[in-house]
Amino acid sequence: MSENKSRREFLSQSGKMVTAAALFGATSQVAYAATPGVANCEVKGTMTLDDTHYYLDNVRLETGFDYENGSAAHTRTELQTVEIENGKIVALRDNKSHPDATLPSYDAGGKLMLPAMRDMHIHLDKTFYGGPWRSLNRPAGTTIQDMIKLEQKMLPQLQPYTQERAEKLIDLIQSKGSTVARSHCNIEPVSGLKNLENLQAVLARRQAGFDCEIVAFPQHGLLLSKSEPLMRDAMQAGAHYVGGLDPTNVDGAMEKSLDTMFRIALDYNKGVDIHLHETSPAGVAAVNYMVETVEKTPELKGKLTISHAFALATLNEQQVDTLATRMAAQQITIASTVPIGTLHMPLQQLREKGVFVMTGTDSVIDHWSPFGLGDMLEKANLYAQLYIHPNEQNLSRSLAIATGDVLPLNDKGERVWPKAQDDASFVLVDASCSAEAVARISPRTATFHKGKMVWGSVNV
Ligand SMILES: [Zn+2]
Repeated sequence: MSENKSRREFLSQSGKMVTAAALFGATSQVAYAATPGVANCEVKGTMTLDDTHYYLDNVRLETGFDYENGSAAHTRTELQTVEIENGKIVALRDNKSHPDATLPSYDAGGKLMLPAMRDMHIHLDKTFYGGPWRSLNRPAGTTIQDMIKLEQKMLPQLQPYTQERAEKLIDLIQSKGSTVARSHCNIEPVSGLKNLENLQAVLARRQAGFDCEIVAFPQHGLLLSKSEPLMRDAMQAGAHYVGGLDPTNVDGAMEKSLDTMFRIALDYNKGVDIHLHETSPAGVAAVNYMVETVEKTPELKGKLTISHAFALATLNEQQVDTLATRMAAQQITIASTVPIGTLHMPLQQLREKGVFVMTGTDSVIDHWSPFGLGDMLEKANLYAQLYIHPNEQNLSRSLAIATGDVLPLNDKGERVWPKAQDDASFVLVDASCSAEAVARISPRTATFHKGKMVWGSVNV
């Protein structure tokens, strides 16, 4: 085939993709619609895949490690066909084997299948993302109290756009492979329950492709802004977690603030997810107080997440060990955004002691931060750069922080994902293995949630 013809067909195919993308209102998909450098005129892509029972061929799955001197040096993979039915992976088959020839089949094009990513700390209800670019001048020395005052002015201006921007933010994180999330949502006297209502409306529309828990977040101080009654209303209205915020720096009454937060959780039988930024000894005291509270209150076991927990960066190794052991016993979770800079979080040590560590986006272009790509693979990459010796095995393990600890291979190199009856929630990545995906933050080409393709394209 001549180069001209190939280029014409490529363009014509791209044109179809543009039309399809326009229909779905998702122009960002175009970039992935045709793989650059693959001038194969036979291959046609689809951006819709609504079948309930189908085969996905040419899926690259990890099968094991090759070892050198006792350490994994290379990851082995093979191409297989994955059979998907009613949202579940029902069988892994030899590549291109279709026992039922009447079923539709699609072609993953040799892309690597990884577990769906989980963005476990995001603020879908307040962002500039989806609107005009805007960066905020936060002079050095801006305190959280200054930010609260700023928010009180700014939130009413953002509120008309909450639904539209939350949808765009969900599009963004789906395009990075995330289909599970936990979103904080402002609950304070300025917003009332409006952000919660807006977010719930969006999540109801997106339910088929996106699972998201909501944390009612008293951003202006649970006690300081007298938000307890609103928080209780939010629980009644269906929020999943009671949030909290710096009980000493913001509320000025550590024990009373934390007791109030836990009381609401117990009254409505909900979990707790607190923003704890404090690095002073007050932050350590707050962590200790929360761990003690859970130790004394069996109903709270497994129900506390501490977001950020920067105070842990101020402890020595021995202190982290002792605290992490107690946290693991109470199934307390840490949600870290993997901060860069001077705060060296003991994330690896926490994991080694059995504390569940997850990560999230937090801000995506908002008045708190102009950064944020909504990409959990980027977080795994940051984790690897900051905290591990980057050999094949450790790079591959680093993916865990992005996937809720679901990994294709266990530490011994045995395949543990996917298995029959797992949810068909996964992302296709242009990489040869997990280690490469983490090291290179490889491009994603399609995201699936419970069998439904929610972003990207596959070949037909
Ligand atoms: Zn946050």
